[in-house]
Amino acid sequence: MTLRKHFIMEPFPLSYAPRQIHDIHHTEPGTMTMQKTPLLMSRILGRGAKLDPNEEVVTLLETGTHRQTLKTTWERATQVACALDEYGIKVGDRVASFMWNNYRHLELYQAIPSMGAVLHTLNIRLGPVDLEYIINHAEDRVIFIDEDLLPLLEPLIDKIPSVELLVVCRHGQNIETSFANTIDYEDLIRDQQKKYSWPEIDEHSPMGLCYTSGTTGKPKGVMYTHRSTYLHTITQAMTDSMSLSALDAVCGIVPMFHAMGWGLPFTASMLGCKQVMPHRFMDPAKLVALMVEEEVTISAGVPTIWQGVRAVLEANPKKYDITKLSRLTCGGSAPPVSMMRWYWDTHGIEMVQGWGMTETNPLGTLSRKVAKRSHLQLTEDQQFENIAKQGLLMPGLEIEIFDESWQPQPHDGESVGELLIRGPWICSEYFNDPQPDKFHDGWLVTGDVAKIDPEEYLIIADRSKDLIKSGGEWISSVDLENHIVALEGVTQAAVVAQPHPKWDERPVALVILVAGSNVTKEFILEHCASLFAKWQLPDDVIFVKEIPLTSTGKIDKKTIRAELASEHYKLPDLRAR
Ligand code: ADP
Repeated sequence: MTLRKHFIMEPFPLSYAPRQIHDIHHTEPGTMTMQKTPLLMSRILGRGAKLDPNEEVVTLLETGTHRQTLKTTWERATQVACALDEYGIKVGDRVASFMWNNYRHLELYQAIPSMGAVLHTLNIRLGPVDLEYIINHAEDRVIFIDEDLLPLLEPLIDKIPSVELLVVCRHGQNIETSFANTIDYEDLIRDQQKKYSWPEIDEHSPMGLCYTSGTTGKPKGVMYTHRSTYLHTITQAMTDSMSLSALDAVCGIVPMFHAMGWGLPFTASMLGCKQVMPHRFMDPAKLVALMVEEEVTISAGVPTIWQGVRAVLEANPKKYDITKLSRLTCGGSAPPVSMMRWYWDTHGIEMVQGWGMTETNPLGTLSRKVAKRSHLQLTEDQQFENIAKQGLLMPGLEIEIFDESWQPQPHDGESVGELLIRGPWICSEYFNDPQPDKFHDGWLVTGDVAKIDPEEYLIIADRSKDLIKSGGEWISSVDLENHIVALEGVTQAAVVAQPHPKWDERPVALVILVAGSNVTKEFILEHCASLFAKWQLPDDVIFVKEIPLTSTGKIDKKTIRAELASEHYKLPDLRAR
């Protein structure tokens, strides 16, 4: 493998005018006085442990709550690096994790990038075919695995020849594996030093690898570099970003195998936050109890998580004291405004909406309740109109919307186009996988259809593959879903296209009702008619008990469409034919 293949995040300097900067260096020596320190993760990941060594990392385990300090975490990370070095892991080698959110996973987040190797976070919810493909494509040499996940890897044991060693993270369950070369995590690090000389490598060297979930075609690898993640980490801590600070107790519910846990493990390690991790306990009641117990101030997850947590809080209005919780970061798909409003009105919790992708490290835009001084004057209703948008761009990034002939469209809040993004932490190619359609002239083609308004807010209309094309016009499935979910008595809604001989496609809504709710199809359609034109209304409303979710907890529209097709579903006006 050539080193070139590793440089796949945009190698732009901080300014987009490289030639100019170069010229200044040569013509004005006085401007060359700053140190050219490479932006390496090893410089920032141990900072929190140094500044506030006794702050805690808390993990909910089957055996009770596991606690260790930031100092211990960094020391154990250092021992992991020593052990991997001794084993023969070199700069650039891929070391994979197949794990829940827990303290050992955090140690790997610190150790592997810092030693110059690449942390490849395997998505534990992928099927065996995708997993086999990803492990082989990445050529992982070592896999760290939580023992309860061993059975998921077992069918692949003979099909992943690059994997030489399995490091098992035991939690007292004594689950066996047939893999020949295994070692217990604690045995791996036991006799290792708590000091390591972190290598001085090029800041464009790779440090993390994530594959997209493969909803279209094979999963594609995104290789983050030290520089891209370093800059992303600093930006994430900005007050105008998520206002993360050393005073926070951070609970990342977004899995650490998804888009690097949205960068939170890195930022929290740099700042010295308390870190609270749910391990495999994703039941909303357990999450609420954990957040209350550990006085969590900020958490992050996809909308379906926050819908579940809301249901728990609503069902037990007096049981939990969540007054310490001030921000919930929510992204991955559009959170319904009604939910954001509920958290604010009922508990004074600000839901911070973020838009991003695996390909964008992942933070692209963020929406805060009050994002500009001029917004201080807005009414709360107006503030929520803004927070419903996907947000304002992170510094250093650029977005544009383009029409079909690559002409940029105005930022008028009306024009719709394909969203493209570029900047220092945006993917510029996939790892060993040329996909020319996904890039255009230095931009990443996001696959999202969007508007940008005159205030520079990004507004995602839909994923291009989920938009519904009816009679030559587009209907946003997301807008319909948000409106339906706002109805009392509705828990979840998914709107998908169904083929129609005359109109091309027509929308159909799948709806989950709260137990005992008497909401009817007619009522939902009437409610939609208050906002949408007649031709935009769903042709059908199907009440269901469950809506399939993707490996990252988003509504899985591809599966819904496939299920409807396999059930030979027909739109109401086609049934008689
Ligand atoms: P995948 O869903 O393919 O596993 P990603 O997590 O990278 O992978 O998904 C990125 C996509 O998720 C974006 O392109 C966009 O369609 C959607 N998305 C992310 N955040 C938001 C948001 N706040 N609002 C609407 N859509 C979002």
